[in-house]
This record gives sequence, C-alpha cells and structure tokens, in this order.
Amino acid sequence: MVIILENNAKEGQINSVIKRLEDYGFQVHISKGEQRTVIGAIGVKPNFDIRQVKMLDGVADVYRITAPYKLASRSFKEENTVLNIKNVEIGGNHIAMMAGPCSVESKEHIFRMAEVVSKSGAKLLRGGAFKPRTSPYSFQGMGEEGLKIMREAADAYNLLVITEVMEVSQIELIEKYADIFQVGARNMQNFSMLKELGKANLPVLLKRGLSATIEEWLMSAEYILASGNKNVLLCERGIRTFETATRNTFDISAIPVIHKKSHLPIIADPSHATGYRDQVPPMARAAVAAGADGIMIEIHDDPEHAFSDGPQALLPDTYLNLMQELKVIANAIGRTI
Ligand code: PEP
Ligand code: MN
Repeated sequence: MVIILENNAKEGQINSVIKRLEDYGFQVHISKGEQRTVIGAIGVKPNFDIRQVKMLDGVADVYRITAPYKLASRSFKEENTVLNIKNVEIGGNHIAMMAGPCSVESKEHIFRMAEVVSKSGAKLLRGGAFKPRTSPYSFQGMGEEGLKIMREAADAYNLLVITEVMEVSQIELIEKYADIFQVGARNMQNFSMLKELGKANLPVLLKRGLSATIEEWLMSAEYILASGNKNVLLCERGIRTFETATRNTFDISAIPVIHKKSHLPIIADPSHATGYRDQVPPMARAAVAAGADGIMIEIHDDPEHAFSDGPQALLPDTYLNLMQELKVIANAIGRTI
C-alpha cells in the first residue's frame, strides 16, 4: 500500500499515520520529498480496508498495490488452469464452444438444438431450466423437467450440460443432471450461494455482474475457490454502461485483463453482451481473436417465438457458418476450436 500525505502535512500527523500503520502490523518505509512525504506500507493483508488509512488526518491518497484476491490470482498460480470435464478440456489450447437456447422450452426443441450443437463440433449444450427474469410475469423456466430433458438431449448427442443455478436450494438437484453450474450475472455477488458452490462437486462458470468491476468479479471467484472448488470458469457477458444501442457493452478488454490477473479460463458470451442477433457474430470473432478460452452462444430455430432472449439468438445456419469463421481465427492465433 502506498500512502501519499498532504503537501502541508504536519510532523505530528505523519508520525501518527506511521504509528497507526505499525499498529496494523505493516512494515513502514518513509520517503520524504521536498513537498510531500510518501509512505510505503508492506505486509500482505488481503482483507485490509484502505479507508482506515484514507480517513486519517494529513493523508491525501492511498493506493493498494497487491490484489485483495489470492487463490484466483496469477501470482498465486502461474500456469493456466485447465479443466477436464468428462474428457472435454477447457482452458487449454482448444477453445470450448457452448451453445443452445436461452431457456429449455420443450423436449423436441432441446433435442433439435442439441443436434445443431453437435453438428457444429461443439461439446457443450447450454440452456436454462431456472431463469432469472427481470419481470416476475415472464417465463421462469421449466424447472426439474427442463433439466431432465436437457440431460437426455445432451446424452443423445454426447454433449455436456451447462445450466444456471439461482439459489442454494437448487444445487443438489442441478448436480444430478448437469456438468457445469452457471452462475448468472444477477447472482455474481450471491455470496452464500458462491460458498455453497465451493463445496459442490461440479465446476462453476461465474458470469460477470451487470456492473461489477473485474476486481469484484475475481473476489466472487475467490469465494468459490476459498470454499474448496478449484474448477471455476469466468464469463464476460457485457456490462451496463450509458450506451443504449446494445443491450450491454461487451468489455472485450476484460479477456486479456483476466489472462494477466488470473489463471482461470475466460469464456465470452457475445449473445448477452450485445442483445441483438446481427451483433453476435462480429463480437464472437473478436472474442476469439482477443484470446477467449471459450464462447457461449444462444441459438434458436424459431427466435420470434422463443420463450426468452429471441432477439439475440442465432439461427442454426448462421451459427454453423460462424463456427467455420471462428475456426479460421483460432488457427491464425495457434489455437483450435
Ligand atoms: C443466460 O445465460 O441466459 C443468462 C440469463 O445470462 P446472464 O446471467 O449473463 O444475464
Ligand atoms: Mn439468455
């Protein structure tokens, strides 16, 4: 932590800041310039609230120099985390494709979508059986029946199932049917659920919150890791900004930032990030080029009648074409899809 004192800080103020830092257990290094005094406080304290120092008399500013998360950080684990889920690797050289409808809608539909996913060469089928909807009057998901038919469709086409968990009470049930838990943007800071998912047996894909900073997102990953589950995937799905031309703003720079700060795989979701079908392929291509370890895409063969998120769903043919383009881009950067 670096503490910058005010220009006119008095000797007495400086000494009491130093005393306070020492009381907190920091090793203190003082640098006295002509105008200002700067203090370096050394000692790893991930939980330290820097406001404790910011509010002291004579202090102008305080900067943290070590990240508040540990297990999620690249400095804790230098090599990339590579998950192996029933022989499907995520986080290695191969880019994992995940596709499917926003919601599981019916047995016939999820089987048709699974066929498209399998035809594309992807290994993961997405689809929500429990849906976090902005309106309580919107379709809330098929529940256990949805999980059941999604598992059947995935098994019929040799795919893995990724599906959303919205509350602690659903963990046990979803574990019976799924291969990966998805934590939605609206639940990124549902800390009690994150702790329980840390004790669960399946990997967790943690979506970035609607207005979460990268540090807050990594702190949420830390909750899962600290509770014992080391199989965490991060997913950038767009953040809320002042822009209204897109549903969210796709923070594509989060991909290289996560690679630098963390060893965890980073998946990109251009469907929720943009919200409009025509914007999905360009952003998917950009995400592969930016280094995403996986891409999650919503697809539907009758999007006008989709139960949720129809406007952002790709038609099967568009999705299959996109897959061909993504392969070329992946090859250009020495990866495969
Ligand atoms: C979803 O994947 O359908 C979903 C609800 O995503 P998000 O949590 O990113 O909004
Ligand atoms: Mn959706």
